[in-house]
Amino acid sequence: MFSKVRVKKSALDYFRKHARQEYPLEIQCYLLGNIKSINEIEITDIMWPNEYEIQTTNEVAWKRSEIDALKEKAQLLNKRIVGTIHTHPNTDAVMSEQDYKSAITEAELLCGIVSVWGNKIKHTRCRFWTPTSALPCEKIYI
Ligand SMILES: [Zn+2]
Repeated sequence: MFSKVRVKKSALDYFRKHARQEYPLEIQCYLLGNIKSINEIEITDIMWPNEYEIQTTNEVAWKRSEIDALKEKAQLLNKRIVGTIHTHPNTDAVMSEQDYKSAITEAELLCGIVSVWGNKIKHTRCRFWTPTSALPCEKIYI
């Protein structure tokens, strides 16, 4: 499966900034993009919700209505939802059992995870996973 992810550095930096600001709460975005080749995927847009259905220190979810609206928008743009990205406040940037289960049930190709930790200064680490890989994808900034 995909081992390389092309992503705009500015869009990812913006996500990291919000991840620090909303810490210790989790945040989640949907990823729009295209499959470039058998092992490369490109993220073209990181999509934000108006408000979350659930937002706690260990759980985050969009409202079903906003997900449905995003699916329609993606179709109009001729893009697809390639996955999601969410934060792990104070835990590693690896898929949890729940992340793995939802990636499978939602048929997500990519699962981005941003770990956030630190006291005065918040650090972030971003990794992209596919549900079938043991290693994180290589990030290529565009
Ligand atoms: Zn998670």
